[in-house]
Amino acid sequence: MRHRIAVVGSGPAGLTFARVLHRHDHPVTVLERDPAPDARPPGGTLDLHEGLGQLALDKAGLLAAFQTLSRPEGQAMRILDTDGTVLRDWRPRPDDRANPEIDRGQLRDLLLGPLDVRWGRGVTQVVPGTRDGVLVHFADGRQETFDLVVGADGAWSRVRPAVSSVAPHYTGVTSIESSLDDVDTRYPDLARLIGDGSLAVYGMNRSLVAQRNSGGHVKVYTKFRAPLDWHTNLDLADVEAVRSSLLALFDGWAAPVLALLRHGTAFVHRPLYVLPVSHTWTHVPGVTLLGDAAHLMPPLGAGANLAMLEGAELAESIAAAPGPGDLDEAVRAFEEQMWTRAGRWAEITTAGLERLVSPDPAEALALFDEVQPS
Ligand SMILES: Cc1cc2nc3c(=O)[nH]c(=O)nc-3n(C[C@H](O)[C@H](O)[C@H](O)COP(=O)(O)OP(=O)(O)OC[C@H]3O[C@@H](n4cnc5c(N)ncnc54)[C@H](O)[C@@H]3O)c2cc1C
Repeated sequence: MRHRIAVVGSGPAGLTFARVLHRHDHPVTVLERDPAPDARPPGGTLDLHEGLGQLALDKAGLLAAFQTLSRPEGQAMRILDTDGTVLRDWRPRPDDRANPEIDRGQLRDLLLGPLDVRWGRGVTQVVPGTRDGVLVHFADGRQETFDLVVGADGAWSRVRPAVSSVAPHYTGVTSIESSLDDVDTRYPDLARLIGDGSLAVYGMNRSLVAQRNSGGHVKVYTKFRAPLDWHTNLDLADVEAVRSSLLALFDGWAAPVLALLRHGTAFVHRPLYVLPVSHTWTHVPGVTLLGDAAHLMPPLGAGANLAMLEGAELAESIAAAPGPGDLDEAVRAFEEQMWTRAGRWAEITTAGLERLVSPDPAEALALFDEVQPS
C-alpha cells in the first residue's frame, strides 16, 4: 500500500529517510524551509560511524559512493596543551574506515540524488487526527493532508509540539565557529599544525578545535562556559569585536593556536542547546520525529549519525508495512527502538561535554584516551 507520507526537513535525517523510501519505490514528499539546497553554508565536516551513519548509507545503497567521497585520513587527531606542547598525535591506519569524514555539502548532494524536494515550504504547524489525516500548515498559508508526517526539522522543530511539549534548554556551554580558506596555500604553518584531521586544545572551562574540511577549508570551533547573556556588551555582527573578545578569553594560549582565531573570516555564535536525556512522548498516530527534533544532544559526533540511521530504519519499516494499521504499528515500534538508542547516546554526549569543557582540562585528555583506539 502507498501511504501519503511527508517528511519535514532536508537535513541528514529527512534526506536519508526519503532516500531509503525512494529506494523501496515508496513515494514521499520532502518539505524544506530553505529556498534552495545552497541557500546557506552547509556547515562543517561530519564523521560517519561504521555502525550508524555508514549503515544508513548502506541501506540507501550509497555506501560505495560515500567511500569514494569521504576522507579516512580526516580521522587523525592531535591534542596540544595550551602552551603548544603536543600531548597526543593519533593517526588512523590507511585501511581504517571506522569514522571517515565527509563535508556536509557533499553528504547532502549524495543523499539528494534523484529526490524531488519542495524547497521554500516552511511548515508552521502540524495537526494530527483530522478527518482526512494529519494536517500540515505552511508559512505561506497553504495546507495539505498526509497519513504520516515525520518531523526531521531539527532543534527548533515545528512538528515536535504535535507530540511533545518539551523544548530545548541551554547547556551552559557556548560555541563560536569560524573558518579559514585555502589553508595549505595561505597558512602553511597552520595547515601543518592541524594535520589531516583535527587539532584540539583544552583549557579550563574552554576548548578550541580546528577541523580540516575538503579543499583546504578549516572550521575552528571555540567552546566555553558562559551564561546565555554573556555577550550583552558585544555586537555579535562585528567580526573584529568578536575576534578581540575571543582572543581575550583565550589569552595566554600558544601563539599558533591563537593564530587560528586571528585569521578566522567570520564568527557564528552557537549557544549549545539540548533536549532532556531520554526524551520520549505518548505515541500520536500519524506523527513522529527523527534526529535532532527528537533528541537534540551536545555536538560530539553522534547527532547526524543517529539521525541518518533512524531515517533509514523508519523508511524500511514503512516500506514493509502493507496496510494503514501496519503503518502505525511500524512507527510505534520504531519510536521504542529510537528512544532506547538515542537515550544511551544522549547520556554519553552529555557526560562528554562536561569533560571536554571542564574546570579540569585533564578530563578531556582522559576521555580521549578512553575512546580512541591505540
Ligand atoms: C558544530 C557541530 C558539529 C557537529 N558535528 C557532528 C559530527 O561530526 N557527527 C555527527 O554525527 N553529528 C554532528 N553534529 C550534529 C549534527 O549536525 C546534527 O545532529 C544533525 O545535523 C541532525 O540532523 P537533522 O536532520 O535531525 O537536523 P538538521 O540537520 O538540523 O536539519 C533540519 C532541516 O529541517 C529544516 N527545517 C527546520 N525547520 C523547518 C520548518 N519549520 N519547515 C521545513 N523545514 C524546516 C532545516 O532548514 C534543515 O534543513 C554537529 C553539530 C554541530 C552544531
